[in-house]
Amino acid sequence: MTFENTQAFAKELDSQDKLHKYRSQFIFPKVDGKQVLYFTGNSLGLQPTRTKSYVDEVMDDWANLAVEGHFHSEKPWWDYHERFANPLSKIVGCLPSEVSVMNTLTVNLHLLMVSFYRPTATRYKIICEEKAFPSDQYMFQSQVDFHGYAAEDAIVEIKRRDGEHNIRLEDVLSKIEEVGDELALVLIGGVNYYTGQVFDIKTITAAGHKVGANVGWDLAHAAGNIKLELHDWDVDFAAWCSYKYMNSGPGNASGIFVHEKHHNADLPRFAGWWGHNKERRFKMEPKFDAVEGADGWQISNLPVLSLAPYLASVDMIDEIGIDAIVEKRDKITAYLEFILEEISREVGSTFEIITPKNPEERASQLSVFLHGEGRSLFDYLMKNGVITDWREPNVIRLAPVPLYCSFEDMYHFGQILKSGILA
Ligand SMILES: *Cc1c(COP(=O)(O)O)cnc(C)c1O
Repeated sequence: MTFENTQAFAKELDSQDKLHKYRSQFIFPKVDGKQVLYFTGNSLGLQPTRTKSYVDEVMDDWANLAVEGHFHSEKPWWDYHERFANPLSKIVGCLPSEVSVMNTLTVNLHLLMVSFYRPTATRYKIICEEKAFPSDQYMFQSQVDFHGYAAEDAIVEIKRRDGEHNIRLEDVLSKIEEVGDELALVLIGGVNYYTGQVFDIKTITAAGHKVGANVGWDLAHAAGNIKLELHDWDVDFAAWCSYKYMNSGPGNASGIFVHEKHHNADLPRFAGWWGHNKERRFKMEPKFDAVEGADGWQISNLPVLSLAPYLASVDMIDEIGIDAIVEKRDKITAYLEFILEEISREVGSTFEIITPKNPEERASQLSVFLHGEGRSLFDYLMKNGVITDWREPNVIRLAPVPLYCSFEDMYHFGQILKSGILA
């Protein structure tokens, strides 16, 4: 399709967009009384209008039923999480028994590493990507330290080649092979938070297994954003936060995936009563008997007030379907790329998109390196109602989230960007 950088053309794209009607189901902040152009759904998704009623329901049940709400509210609290199994399994591509919701992302990755990072004297290394999200780096360092290994030795980063912004698949595969029988775990972000690069989860997982390692994924920027087939790709475990592309609200509950093949494997884990056999949970027995499936990794009783907004958003994504989201995502991302290239040409190039150009290797994010412009341009955008985010040294990240961003937003963004550069 040939794009045009005009408002009329952008409006035409919106009129053809099957997801456009969902835009009005989200609440946009305002700057100077005007609805913002929101590009930070990769950091915190907007609030869906339906979410408040899910939260109010729990508040009302608590007021009216108090402790009885555990069993007698319309959505009983004691098994509230089971409502996620079906819709969430469709979003991440697995069996309902392979997903659960609990805690927060980094906490869950630590807990899953208890089961899946079992270093021995000879097989103890972890492969991750260079410049992984800081929380993941701290997690790796503290895990290897906890097990008595030196970080410089045990953590192997896959580097970018000189002058390149993204990591090559061939370099991931050759590093896995090189570390070989010293490799205990591969754990990479499915979509890199900084560049927006999408990794080939299926191929990398197979390569890790071939040398005898476990393979897990941090899907913070992937869940609700890319099409996942975690079961078929034979991923061992994964976790994601729900507040980015899944719009569940700040710091909200995380999701986990544990492959079916591990459900009966008697893996070591840190246990608590919510992971105990459901039928006998309230018999208060002394010996732990894990629930079969991902729910067996739960520890505490559920933060229902935090799950309620998550359920609202999972219900919404399930209603729309991940395929429709991916289809619009590709089109609106391509349109934003086109707008950026147009503006770059009109003003004389001052920025560079560092996200891969290949649609297979990117999703709903374009990271733009600002040569020379920098922070003042970012500030200009914010002042003019464009919410983006800034990452050192000189990158703004733009997520044209398909659920609520419009093609017309992309057009207006281009105009504001241009006036900001010329200002
Ligand atoms: C957002 C993000 C996190 C956040 O972790 P929390 O434990 O939810 O604070 C972790 N890892 C990656 C890759 C992220 O993008």
